[in-house]
Amino acid sequence: MAAKTPENSRSSTGDRSRIQMRVTDRKNGGTRREDGGTRGKGGGTRRKDKGKHNRDDRLTTYRSKRHADRTSEPMGGEPRGGAPRFVVQKHSATSLHYDFRLEADDVLISWAVPKGPAMDPREKRLAMRTEDHPLDYADFEGVIPRGEYGAGTVIVWDAGHYENRTEHRGRTVPVAEAVERGHVSFRLEGEKLRGGWALTRTGRDGDKERWILVKKPDETADARRNPVGSQPASVRSGRTTEDLARENENGRD
Ligand code: MN
Repeated sequence: MAAKTPENSRSSTGDRSRIQMRVTDRKNGGTRREDGGTRGKGGGTRRKDKGKHNRDDRLTTYRSKRHADRTSEPMGGEPRGGAPRFVVQKHSATSLHYDFRLEADDVLISWAVPKGPAMDPREKRLAMRTEDHPLDYADFEGVIPRGEYGAGTVIVWDAGHYENRTEHRGRTVPVAEAVERGHVSFRLEGEKLRGGWALTRTGRDGDKERWILVKKPDETADARRNPVGSQPASVRSGRTTEDLARENENGRD
């Protein structure tokens, strides 16, 4: 088939319509049609609308890296309310890593942790900041096809909710702001990971942000526990990245 043209034009059309939608919304200022207006009038709805713009803006990089027609990765996701979620996805790509994501500001703020989280507070795990991901990525498990961005297998290695514990001069700092400032402290309620942790920015490599992920020395710290090694399977499906890769190979022939 006419190799690249159809896909390219399709995806650029998609991008353009998204941009147009944003511009239209902006023109209309506070009047809102899209979210159905069920939240009543005034500040509440307007804030939520702003959230949508913000989310679209924050996901521009994510979407620009992926072909929606070639990967099954999610492209959107609406906020669901309730306690914010966290997810750790084991991603067996060119190099194995653990994608650590915190829900904040209607997106999943994300880091790639090559060695995964440690339960020993003395271990500082390198965490490279990556692009914000859509909220529904938290449920994604699957195979990203060869040739696509992040090609490989992804499982939901751990998931749950978290509580922001970041404070500055006696005030709780919202997570998105804390991340911009370079330090976020939180308690995880996952299946494998529980208790206090902190992410701290330590430097930059060009436009890449280097962070460290460290366990707090609380009652959940345990230097003998190493869930990355001892609990490799998905908390969603019980499958490992190897299972997924094998299933994918078998499905092919
Ligand atoms: Mn990844």
